Amino acid sequence: MDCLGQVILPNGYWIDRTHYRNVKLRVLTGLDEEFFAEQISTTFPANRITNLLNRCITSMDGVEEVTSDAVGRLTVGDREALLLHLRRLIMGERMQCILNCPQTDCNELMDIELRVSDLLQPTYQKPEPVYEDIVESAGRKFRVRFSLPTGIDQEAAALKASTDVQAGGVLLLRRCVESVFDDEDIETEWFPEILPEMLKALPIKMARLDPQAELILNLTCPICEESFSTLFDTGAYLLQEITSTSDDLYSQIHLLALHYHWSEADILSMNINKRHRYLNLLLDTLSPEGLT
Ligand SMILES: [Zn+2]
Repeated sequence: MDCLGQVILPNGYWIDRTHYRNVKLRVLTGLDEEFFAEQISTTFPANRITNLLNRCITSMDGVEEVTSDAVGRLTVGDREALLLHLRRLIMGERMQCILNCPQTDCNELMDIELRVSDLLQPTYQKPEPVYEDIVESAGRKFRVRFSLPTGIDQEAAALKASTDVQAGGVLLLRRCVESVFDDEDIETEWFPEILPEMLKALPIKMARLDPQAELILNLTCPICEESFSTLFDTGAYLLQEITSTSDDLYSQIHLLALHYHWSEADILSMNINKRHRYLNLLLDTLSPEGLT
């Protein structure tokens, strides 16, 4: 398979206590584009990202077979990094976005250009499968052991949040917290009074430990000159890019089949970079300039 991208994950994953970080990606094909166009409104974003990565990851060190479970067990930041690398493989380094200025009396539309390399965070220095921290509640200190949220955690939380947003947040936390010890170092069950402190403290600690998970853009509006911050959602951006061109897919297949006499199946299984190269060659040849 051509057009492979080697990615070193910022956090990585553990199998039998061995830490792995190397993953290989391939470029999407027309079959992938068709798949995502069909499922756009049927699943949660986290599930769609799992599907996308499951299709495009060709190998993970230490993993015999790449499955949606293996992809789902990657941390949110690692999945985000993979999406950015995938975006670069498919459509290059530069990403155009249109944003609204959040100032209500301005609301100016802004064109911004982002670069994949500016959004990718350096690999984490000392990642661990489980972290420990102290959470204080009602004058008592609790030692909490937790792991970073993964894709599977996000999927479960999204399902819960679809009927109860707060319960979705609590579930995400519960899935990430491995154990809680009280100030006498006795493992304790969760109880309601510690939950509000956990909900406040742990997401901040997790964001510091997995900075690739939440990409905050710090911007200044060119019209009102107000500064503001906004979250960049790589998964939503990339899936929107992939599915927005799906209408063109069939006209592209038509054009290539008409001139090269390739079958629909052959064109759909071609990676999209290669397909676009043939299309550009064809359009150059068919254009008035190409005929002279
Ligand atoms: Zn503005």
